[in-house]
Amino acid sequence: MKDFGVKSNAAEVVFKNVTKIYGGQSVAVDDISFHIKAGELVTLLGPSGCGKTTTLRMIAGLEAVSSGSIVIGGVDVTHRPASDRDVSMVFQSYALFPHKTVFENVCYGLLFSGYSKADAEDKANSGLDLVGLVHLKNRYPSELSGGQQQRVAVARALVLEPQVLLFDEPLSNLDAKLRRSVRDEIRDLQLRLDLTVVYVTHDQEEALAVSDRIIVMDEGNISQIGSPRDLYERPESLFVANFIGDSNVLPCVIGTTKGTETIIKIGNLKLKLNNITAQAGTASALIRPEHIALNPKKTMSALAGTIDKATYIGSKVEYNISTAIGSVFAVAQSDKQEFEVGQPVFLKFPADKLNILSA
Ligand code: ATP
Repeated sequence: MKDFGVKSNAAEVVFKNVTKIYGGQSVAVDDISFHIKAGELVTLLGPSGCGKTTTLRMIAGLEAVSSGSIVIGGVDVTHRPASDRDVSMVFQSYALFPHKTVFENVCYGLLFSGYSKADAEDKANSGLDLVGLVHLKNRYPSELSGGQQQRVAVARALVLEPQVLLFDEPLSNLDAKLRRSVRDEIRDLQLRLDLTVVYVTHDQEEALAVSDRIIVMDEGNISQIGSPRDLYERPESLFVANFIGDSNVLPCVIGTTKGTETIIKIGNLKLKLNNITAQAGTASALIRPEHIALNPKKTMSALAGTIDKATYIGSKVEYNISTAIGSVFAVAQSDKQEFEVGQPVFLKFPADKLNILSA
């Protein structure tokens, strides 16, 4: 591996049946288990209060577990204090020392860990080089932009060469444009240095963009674990389907199965689907707005509707369409056929893009 002056000690993180109850009654995390591989970037994603930060803080040792165990790099660290764990955290607020320069901020943890002054300075220079800030090393945090302060916080955590690097909503204090570039920088560093990163966000687009895998949490539980593509294309619950991207949830009836093929009915539309796992009876058919094909003319196996609203947003046009089974939201590329409000339209649902969930 290329020598960056900062090396990777990436380790795996294993949660076994971990529960956290605050004050003896408020269950923040409820019996969760997962396995993060060494060198992987895994995001904890979910709505406010679902237990993401508590989970991250338990990895860091900043919060004690109520039951269960945490193993990092093969060592059970459940009852070790934060100071005895080889983990660094980048906080939402950066938490830089205001009266120390950038360079002193990055050196601080190294000197505290027992590095000689010369070695600490070498490492600090390498860390600042990795985040592109060597030229600003004599400035104070107040003389930096938000994005630059964030990079100092990343360098300060990186130089400690932790087994696991933790990020708690690292982009929330940055404006929308900067968020994209800082998020790309974090992912780039993680890949280049082969780091194990656990990343907390409530922003689904950010999670899709940076992660190898995402753990979706809801009310202290894990709803689903998967790659960004798995979660987007194969959500296993309505919660995940609605939390990640937009989804139409259409009532459907699952009919007979012959071999691997099952007949389902969405309104008066009959479709043959392969390998569905849902039971016969009423169910929900999920389809992403961009997967619905819109035709101006009646075609076979299409659901009739009328355009209620058309919104041009540059590269796309969004349509709200009323149909016999309710309102459907569809998105088309703006260079394709456009439809006017009040126009009849026929909707096709490609069989391989439908997800069927039991009611
Ligand atoms: P957010 O995105 O808003 O930061 P989160 O998913 O990170 O939310 P947590 O901060 O982990 O959620 O909180 C999970 C639950 O635990 C919430 O119901 C919260 O009110 C509760 N909680 C968090 N910290 C404490 C505490 N110190 N004492 C009591 N309850 C707490």
